[in-house]
Amino acid sequence: MTAVHVPGTPVIEDGRLLSTSPATGAEAGRVPAATAADVERAVARAREAAGWWAGLGFTGRRERLLRWRRLLARRIEELAELVHLEGGKPVADAIVEIVTAVEHVDWAARNARRVLGPRRVRSRLVLAEFSAHLEYQPYGVVGVIGPWNYPVFTPIGSAAYALAAGNTVVLKPSEYTPAVGQWLVDTFAEVVPEQPVFTAVHGLGDVGAALCRSGVNKVAFTGSTATAKKVMAACAESLTPVLLEAGGKDAMIVDSDADLDAAADACVWGALTNAGQTCIGIERVYAVAPVFDTFVDKVVERAGRLTVGAEGADIGPITMPSQLDVIRRHIDDALARGGRAVLGGADAVQPPYVRPTVLVDVPEDAAAVREETFGPTLTINRVRDADEAVDRTNAVPYGLGASVFGRRRAVTIARRMRSGMASVNSALTFAGMSTLPFGGVGDSGFGRIHGEDGLREFGRPKAITRRRARSLLPAMTFDRTPADIDRLVKAIKVMYGR
Ligand code: NDP
Repeated sequence: MTAVHVPGTPVIEDGRLLSTSPATGAEAGRVPAATAADVERAVARAREAAGWWAGLGFTGRRERLLRWRRLLARRIEELAELVHLEGGKPVADAIVEIVTAVEHVDWAARNARRVLGPRRVRSRLVLAEFSAHLEYQPYGVVGVIGPWNYPVFTPIGSAAYALAAGNTVVLKPSEYTPAVGQWLVDTFAEVVPEQPVFTAVHGLGDVGAALCRSGVNKVAFTGSTATAKKVMAACAESLTPVLLEAGGKDAMIVDSDADLDAAADACVWGALTNAGQTCIGIERVYAVAPVFDTFVDKVVERAGRLTVGAEGADIGPITMPSQLDVIRRHIDDALARGGRAVLGGADAVQPPYVRPTVLVDVPEDAAAVREETFGPTLTINRVRDADEAVDRTNAVPYGLGASVFGRRRAVTIARRMRSGMASVNSALTFAGMSTLPFGGVGDSGFGRIHGEDGLREFGRPKAITRRRARSLLPAMTFDRTPADIDRLVKAIKVMYGR
């Protein structure tokens, strides 16, 4: 019989972590809960496997990662159902998430050799008698700590790139989505049965903390800014390098020459997909005065049509029950400070759901404008022009993604927005572009997943010089003479002194 618990609240029972559907409370998965000793054992096993995995070389790893990609693509419906059950996300949204993840596995597998493999780099006139060689060697074991909101896309964004680079990976999924994390490592083991190359440890935050202190060679963390700081502090104890993908408060700017229907469509999707529980979700919009009213009407009309509920709806439940209080606080505070709800509003929070809420005229210092809301809510504020929109966009400590709608100035505006990524005339699209790096600035973290930078993030650059001829101006030897140094001085003046 299926156990029924407080919807969405994970519990540990008899040494097992039990996750439940946030919509119904039905059991979603039961996995072994790890102790700190279990974490150390998992990392030790991953370290043993690391030699074998690295020894397969780029070709062997590519072949195995592409096997996993095939499995993920073939079993996409099964995984989407599990994501839906455990996190509450509509199945269609889960499919979109998994498609994006599959694309990243494919790209990382196919491009790791080109980006990370041994290559010659040019020498210069100084030290021309040496050739220069560069390669990116794996760190060893990478600890990946993931959030619940995109339980496939976020761990794979780090893990696929780390694996392609030759590392083994120990994943700590969020306590809200352990079954999805376990599914990922189990299916990887189906296609790579030889060694524990990609494994998981489960539990609450203390298990993540134990992973940071377990001797892993790098930690790739995705989650909130507050936890990112704890992870960095724990990793500092052993100088373990970290990649931090943290929260966001992404803005969209709508300029006067924007296609307003397209902007409203992308805005509603970008803000409300996954019930707004998206790190790169659009949380605030700055629309220039001449188009403000029309744009707001179009957003309200579209957002008002969306359905909310457990099965087959556009917007599912809020995954983490405690988030409901944050969302309610942001809405109440915005209204108390003079903001107006043009859709939804004070009674929008109906646990475990939140109805779409569009707020206008919210003061810029309100929580709904400055803090991550992580719900299906949106503020739209009127600005004089694009310059004011950019200034307001850049006035928060976060800087993850951004979106701009417009024609003539759109790319220039995108460049000026303080963010790691931006989409022009769309929303969130940079996340699926496997050739582009993904990551933030400021409170949104640092380091990059995806693309060439994402591969390099998981390899240590190894620089080698090799003598190919005798030195004409021997300087790096005690056999040098004063005349050699005189010649060196003359040469440098000729080369760089003019
Ligand atoms: P949290 O920061 O609460 O948790 C993230 C992960 O860290 C979880 O696995 C959590 O475990 C673990 N953890 C908790 N405490 C510690 C600790 N002391 N040391 C090590 N690990 C720990 O984030 P959420 O899961 O709530 O995810 C939502 C957040 O993630 C949002 O802020 C969102 O913006 C951000 N995010 C960022 C993305 C990006 O790419 N920049 C992408 C997706 C989300 P447990 O769950 O067991 O507590």
